[in-house]
Amino acid sequence: MQQPSTTMKPRLHPLLTFLIIFTILPGCSQPQTPHTTTRLVMGTLVTITTWNVPEAQERQGVADAFREMQRIDRLMSSHHPQSLLSTLNRAEENSTIALDPELALVIRRGVEIHQITAGAFDPELRALIRLWNFSGDQPATTPPDPQQLASVLKTQKKRKRNRLINQNPPAMSVGTGGANLDLGAIAKGYAIDRAITVLQQAGITDALVNAGGDLRILGSKGEAPWRIGIQHPRRDGEVIAVSEIRSDLAMVTSGDYERAFVHNDRRYHHILDPETGTPSDSGLISVSVQAPDAMTADALSTAFFVLGEKRSLTLLPDFPDVELLLVRSDGSLHRTAGFIATLRP
Ligand code: ADP
Ligand code: MG
Repeated sequence: MQQPSTTMKPRLHPLLTFLIIFTILPGCSQPQTPHTTTRLVMGTLVTITTWNVPEAQERQGVADAFREMQRIDRLMSSHHPQSLLSTLNRAEENSTIALDPELALVIRRGVEIHQITAGAFDPELRALIRLWNFSGDQPATTPPDPQQLASVLKTQKKRKRNRLINQNPPAMSVGTGGANLDLGAIAKGYAIDRAITVLQQAGITDALVNAGGDLRILGSKGEAPWRIGIQHPRRDGEVIAVSEIRSDLAMVTSGDYERAFVHNDRRYHHILDPETGTPSDSGLISVSVQAPDAMTADALSTAFFVLGEKRSLTLLPDFPDVELLLVRSDGSLHRTAGFIATLRP
């Protein structure tokens, strides 16, 4: 379908998607009912659903889980100037600074995935991400000036990277040009994992934490599985597959439809190829990853999106618990054998 030349897809546009994901397939005829609470956290509608938990315990556990996600956002958001991450990004180049242990944990995982994915996932892309401005208060509707882009990319490639030093207490040696950290492709996953831990600590054994389609599941829905639709990357409100999941598992999707604009009939989206500095054009338009934890699934969905099908599948043996559903730009799919889903025709 032809789109107007500068159509923004606001971050929250998938309200419909969201409704599908949650109201789809009520699925179960048991007498118990799920309890669902939705809040806006990290710029995303987050829903926490619990199954068969006494009301007071549920209310407390879920409130604590949301508080935990907000806490992570205040630590790791690159949008809030007051976040700890933003403070870190203001540190002087070539200095050594003490790191908050949680921030250290997420950065360490990010650096690890950066290395394994040959740089496709890069937690140090802040300057480029800001230049493209897909998720600022007033997101861009046109690509950046090519000269400016070339200059930021050149600086990006020349910079000496941050180095994590010490585990205990953790510290970081800041690279040239400042820390340049953006954890936008991994922090949400970590926040989902933390929310799950908080629910577990509240004695809740069956729950779903769903942050706009990025989710993690705990236990089951009584006798029934949790049933989750995966958004169709080109048809709003439609799903490409439905996953019926009965045990602890995370599933995260990165798609070129999530934050994007169309300019002169070209789609520009928020997942950048660190090599070119431009929206990744790997032949994939959506990547869903199933993994034991949401932090890994989050970072990998971004990395595989950038790597494209062939390189992703070559790399997959390095991640024994990870399964993939890839959508190619012609709409066709590739699914690994263990990816839990029923494809929709
Ligand atoms: P979403 O945030 O929509 O769930 P992703 O998890 O794929 O999608 O993260 C995309 C965000 O991560 C971007 O908005 C940007 O902040 C950051 N980002 C973009 N490209 C990369 C990349 N190659 N590596 C790491 N982070 C990236
Ligand atoms: Mg991600």
